[in-house]
Amino acid sequence: MPGEPQDDCLFCKIIAGHVPATIVRETETTVAFRDINPQAPTHVLVIPKAHYKNAAELAAAEPVLAADVLREAQSVADEDKLESYRIVFNTGAGAGQTVWHAHAHVLGGRGMQWPPG
Ligand code: C5P
Repeated sequence: MPGEPQDDCLFCKIIAGHVPATIVRETETTVAFRDINPQAPTHVLVIPKAHYKNAAELAAAEPVLAADVLREAQSVADEDKLESYRIVFNTGAGAGQTVWHAHAHVLGGRGMQWPPG
C-alpha cells in the first residue's frame, strides 16, 4: 500500500522509535528531528510519517500531507527564530539524496551561497 511503513527504511525506524533521533516537533502526520550531521547551526529534517520515497511522490499521492511538511518546516524556522532559512528536498542520488523517505532539510543560522553545490 502506498505510504505504508517500510521495514528497511531508516526514517520509518525513527518514526517507530526503533532508531534514536533528537525529535524537536511531532504532529499527527509529521516528525521533525535534528540532522545527525548538521550542515548549519539549525539543520532539522521534517518527514511525513507515511513512507514516500521522495517529495515528488509524496506531493502526487498526498498533497495535503506535503503541505503539512512545509508548514512544519516553517514552524521549525519560527522556533529557532530564523529570519532566513533554506528548505531543501534532495530528490535523486545525483542531487545528494541518500535516504529514500521524503524529507525536507530546514537549514539556517548562517549565511548561505547561491547556487548551492
Ligand atoms: O538528502 P539526504 O537523503 O542526503 O538526507 C539524509 C539526511 O539524513 C542526511 O543529512 C543525514 O545526515 C541524515 N541522517 C540523520 N540521522 C540518521 C541518518 C541520516 O539525521 N540516523
